[in-house]
Amino acid sequence: MSIIFKKIIKSIKQYENIVIARHIGPDPDAVASQIALRDSIRKTFPKKNVYAVGTQVAKFKYYGILDKIDESSLNDALLIILDVPNKARIDGVNYNHYKYVIRIDHHPNVEEIANLEFVDEKSTSTCEMISELLLSSNLKIDNSIASNLFLGIVADSDRFLLSSTTPKTFKIITTLIENYNLDINKLYYKLYERPINEVKFQSYIALNMIVTSNNFGYIKLDKKVMEEFKVDASAASNMINNFNFIKELYCWAFSSYDEKNSIYKINIRSRGPIINEIASKYNGGGHKYASGARIKEEQEVDNLFNDLDNACLEYKNNNKSA
Ligand code: AMP
Repeated sequence: MSIIFKKIIKSIKQYENIVIARHIGPDPDAVASQIALRDSIRKTFPKKNVYAVGTQVAKFKYYGILDKIDESSLNDALLIILDVPNKARIDGVNYNHYKYVIRIDHHPNVEEIANLEFVDEKSTSTCEMISELLLSSNLKIDNSIASNLFLGIVADSDRFLLSSTTPKTFKIITTLIENYNLDINKLYYKLYERPINEVKFQSYIALNMIVTSNNFGYIKLDKKVMEEFKVDASAASNMINNFNFIKELYCWAFSSYDEKNSIYKINIRSRGPIINEIASKYNGGGHKYASGARIKEEQEVDNLFNDLDNACLEYKNNNKSA
């Protein structure tokens, strides 16, 4: 077992109260990793109090139910934060309450936020990192834990299409499927089944996306169009990856107006220019080729899209044969 895994296991053994958090606006990897780790620690150490916290998102209930905690009653607690690159995006905990903090994450390291950092930017997903931890230690795994880990890896690697997918990813996936008897077809339904109105909405995006001469594709989705297709501001996130491999696009972005929070939710993907540094100028961040942002003013959305278009132009000029 590697030194970092030994240190993580030592801390898990040491603390009786353990809280596992992840990022705001969660995705399958964030939720699946926290529930898998919670359930594994509970199964291995039944006497410990282990909680997975944060806003419960209805569409992710099939990973498991999150816990409500009263932090003031949790003394000397360990906090494990998963899939979060910066403090500001941790959901549902008062960071300063905890005695010791561990972070496990695959985002680029933007700031040190924990006493113990296990960050692997090259990993497909936090679920892949948790799988490595569980498979190389004596933390227990069962069918439900393995199913969650499988779903998180599949979701964040975009079904093994992204360049972060390595032979190690396939080895872990094989072990999970073989050793824990996973019914992968059933699991794919959980992840990919969607209502017809979302498919129609995706068609609307394809038909109305603007593609610039620099190979940047973008669309602004306003309240009216989202009402017409009966989708909310998070719907576009589910389909941004489906626009990969389009010959005319180096980079593409959606802006969806979230009326409840009076904010523009931005999804950005690229297979050319690096986008997370651009997103970070607009209250955003993420991975080199998969980023997001939350923007208050529409003018700032235009500025961001303009920057992304320029990044495409620069990429195009530097890769004339691309
Ligand atoms: P999404 O397009 O929502 O799937 O997000 C893609 C990536 O960008 C994920 O790794 C997110 O954690 C990250 N991300 C999304 N929104 C933000 C934000 N406002 N700030 C920092 N990172 C973000």
